[in-house]
Amino acid sequence: MTVQTRPQALSHPTAEPVPLTVARGDGIGPEIMDATLAVLEAAGARLAIEEIAIGESQYRAGHSSGLSPEAWGSIRRTRLLLKGPITTPQGKGVKSLNVTLRKALGLFANVRPVRAYAPFVAAAHPSIDLIIVRENEEDLYAGIEHRQTQDVVQCLKLISRPGTERLIRYAFALAAGSGRRKVTCMIKDNIMKLTDGLFHRVFDEVAAEYPELEAEPMIIDIGAARLATRPERFDVIVCPNLYGDIVSDIAAEVAGSVGLAPSANIGERAAMFEAVHGSAPDIAGQDIANPSGLLLAAVEMLRHVGQGEVARRVADAWAVTIEDGVHTADICGPATRLVVGTQAFARAVIDRLGSVPKHLPPARPATIHVPVLPAPPRPPEAKTLVGIDVFIEWTGSADALARALQACPDAGLVLTVITNRGVKVWPEGLPETFCTDHWRCRFQAPPGKPTNPMMLVHLLHGLVRSGLPVIKTEHLYAFDGVPGYALAQGQ
Ligand code: NAD
Repeated sequence: MTVQTRPQALSHPTAEPVPLTVARGDGIGPEIMDATLAVLEAAGARLAIEEIAIGESQYRAGHSSGLSPEAWGSIRRTRLLLKGPITTPQGKGVKSLNVTLRKALGLFANVRPVRAYAPFVAAAHPSIDLIIVRENEEDLYAGIEHRQTQDVVQCLKLISRPGTERLIRYAFALAAGSGRRKVTCMIKDNIMKLTDGLFHRVFDEVAAEYPELEAEPMIIDIGAARLATRPERFDVIVCPNLYGDIVSDIAAEVAGSVGLAPSANIGERAAMFEAVHGSAPDIAGQDIANPSGLLLAAVEMLRHVGQGEVARRVADAWAVTIEDGVHTADICGPATRLVVGTQAFARAVIDRLGSVPKHLPPARPATIHVPVLPAPPRPPEAKTLVGIDVFIEWTGSADALARALQACPDAGLVLTVITNRGVKVWPEGLPETFCTDHWRCRFQAPPGKPTNPMMLVHLLHGLVRSGLPVIKTEHLYAFDGVPGYALAQGQ
């Protein structure tokens, strides 16, 4: 049995408890969850807890996503999950539990506040206090990959307008609602003009609705470098999935506090809260792990479900414990007066409930419960078929390929350009260009002539009958006359 219900736990006599699914996880998960729940209970959190098993034991029991159907039932019911870390098994046929949860529950935003607690916890950048809002479902993490030739594999980068819009709207609403002054968008739209270009455009559109906030677009490479060297210049950072994954780790590293960092995964109808760190198998079962990351995630969760008073009591007591120098071993430093284990740390926090920190400023909320407003209606753009990119596997030269293509039956479309790895190699390619066996051949109707889908069918029919190995195609469309495809480099 993987679901235990203890609805009486953590209940408060005067208010309806909030249904919550709790998963202890693997490694240090059970001990930091015990510590966290003890503090929440002592602080008067009004929660009706259903406990589920996740992770290694469930993978071993044959549940390929690390969750049993009963556990899914609980999460679907409560739509609120406080999760310990899990050990990710290596091997085929095993799905990442985190990815499964994010996608199944529509948790579109991964929110990571990163803060330094100097001088009580040593930090290279003492004034760092930022939030990273990372897109959680799209981008290269859609996991759509193909091998198409002997030499080339590909991964599709998907960025959608609605997916981007709800993320960026969330980031601005969070910034405005939590006293922030600036939102930085990290993208690489000087190279990926359509995908990252859309992300940037939506950022500009939403930014215009928040004139009181500074909106700062920044190319991801310089953004990551500045985050590593001058993190205090950032406030809220919003970015697509892959960049967000990388900059979250940079930020956690420069703050120097892997054991202190919380994380929230926010969806329209569900939310999941956890620590940033993993299951730390090297210290599991020793009662030395720092429970702060999970406890601070639980503080965000309490705010999220409208128990802000309890959240503040816990956050204040935790900050007083840190100020008093009662520390777990991982953050031990010059300000430490007493090194304690996991459960003793929780007891120290409980002893300080009701106290207010003297030095550390209160944490600003890192999540916000906003209805994600539907995007303003946009008139559909006129979509016109203007050609096709046909990808061919070929080991000869570009000129020989062009001759072979032009010798195929006439379908009313003209070969306009051939590229290899995005670089134009025909007509007038450079002999120095290194070529693989993966060629993109662009066909378009002659100027002023329309393209219709049957022309594409005839073209492909002719190419295949001529023995040319077509490996994939991409239709070319214009939207309100604007090309919806990248031009070839050198075109
Ligand atoms: P890790 O975060 O578990 O550990 C990295 C280092 O930090 C270790 O030395 C560990 O002892 C220390 N550490 C981590 N949390 C700590 C804490 N609360 N207190 C004190 N020290 C702490 O990273 P890892 O070793 O790369 O990963 C271990 C496992 O966790 C892997 O299977 C990984 O896939 C998984 N993981 C899970 C999650 C998650 O469930 N959200 C996140 C990251 C990693």
